[in-house]
Order: sequence, then C-alpha cells, then structure tokens
Amino acid sequence: MPLIAMTGTPGTGKTSAAERLRQRGYEIIDLNAFIAENGLLGEEDTERDTREVDIDSMRTVFSRRDKLSAIVEGHLSHFLGCDIVVVFRCHPDVLAGRLRARGYSESKVRENVQAEILDVILCEADGSKARVFEIDTTDLTPEETADKMEDVIKGKGDHQVPGSTDWSEENEKWF
Ligand code: ADP
Ligand code: MN
Repeated sequence: MPLIAMTGTPGTGKTSAAERLRQRGYEIIDLNAFIAENGLLGEEDTERDTREVDIDSMRTVFSRRDKLSAIVEGHLSHFLGCDIVVVFRCHPDVLAGRLRARGYSESKVRENVQAEILDVILCEADGSKARVFEIDTTDLTPEETADKMEDVIKGKGDHQVPGSTDWSEENEKWF
C-alpha cells in the first residue's frame, strides 16, 4: 500500500471518516497527534488562535518512520510527499455550521471558510507529485465518506477526480 493522505480544510470531516475506517480495521496515523508527540508544534499565534508547524521538520521526522506505506489524516498531510492525496471538501455554509458547533470564533470560521472557497488545500496538493482525489462530504454521513475513502484505498476511486466542487458562487458572502 502506498502513502495516502486524508487532507482538507478543518471541519470537512477527515477525523470522523478516519474513525470509521479504523473501526473497519484500517490503521490511520493521526498527523496532529504525530506533530504534537514529536515536538513539532511551533510558536502560538494568539491573534489567529493557531500554531505554526514547520513543514520541513515535519517531513523530515515523518520520513524517519520505518514503515513507508500508511494512511495519514490531518490538514497538513498533503505536505508529506504522499503517493495519493484525498482532499475532503464541504460547502461553505455547512462548513461554517460545523466549525461554529465546534466553538470556533467567527474570525476563525471565516478564515477556514475562505480557504475552502479558494481551494487552498487542493492547490497545495496539485503542486505535489501525488495523484489527487476529492470527496465532497457536504451531503454525506461520516460512514458514506468512509465508503468513498475505501474506494480510493482499493483503487476504485477513479470517479473522484478533482473539479466537481466549485464554491466560487459563495464568494460575495464571505469576502
Ligand atoms: P476534520 O477532522 O476535517 O476537522 P471532523 O471529522 O472533526 O473534521 O468533523 C468536524 C465536525 O463536523 C464534527 O463535529 C463532525 O461531527 C461533523 N461532521 C464530520 N463529518 C460529517 C459528515 N459527513 N456529516 C455531517 N457532519 C459531519
Ligand atoms: Mn480533525
């Protein structure tokens, strides 16, 4: 099995899908936990309520693992030099609802929704050597999202090529 990334804007449903896949017997690496455990969390940015992660250090430490094939979940996983990158997507209104329910501040909701509208992670993933897939979780349950993820893992995800999502009509509302 190759190295597979489950990435996407916070709130798109990566962790929920990963949990379901674990229940089905897949081993999934939690990249946020890996970053914390390996002391890779940078300075706290109180203004943006976030912490910067040094991507080069993260890549270096991750590449020291003895097992190279894995499924990795986290919004920075597409920077690991994966063979396959699956970008989780979600409609801005639904994403905002999920992030508010999580207790995010309005500025943090906006920052993440804007990133989703601008396809930030998809563009970052396109810059890598990986094969890129996309899963729109807007109308899916975590279980259905896990089904689609399993298709990709089994090499049956050919229909999930990027380009089916386009949130640009939501621009006016969020910018
Ligand atoms: P991520 O790991 O991408 O940040 P999570 O899996 O933590 O996203 O999900 C964010 C929130 O959205 C959680 O409250 C979760 O219950 C909810 N959620 C996740 N996936 C779905 C889904 N497919 N349908 C509805 N709600 C979802
Ligand atoms: Mn998560």
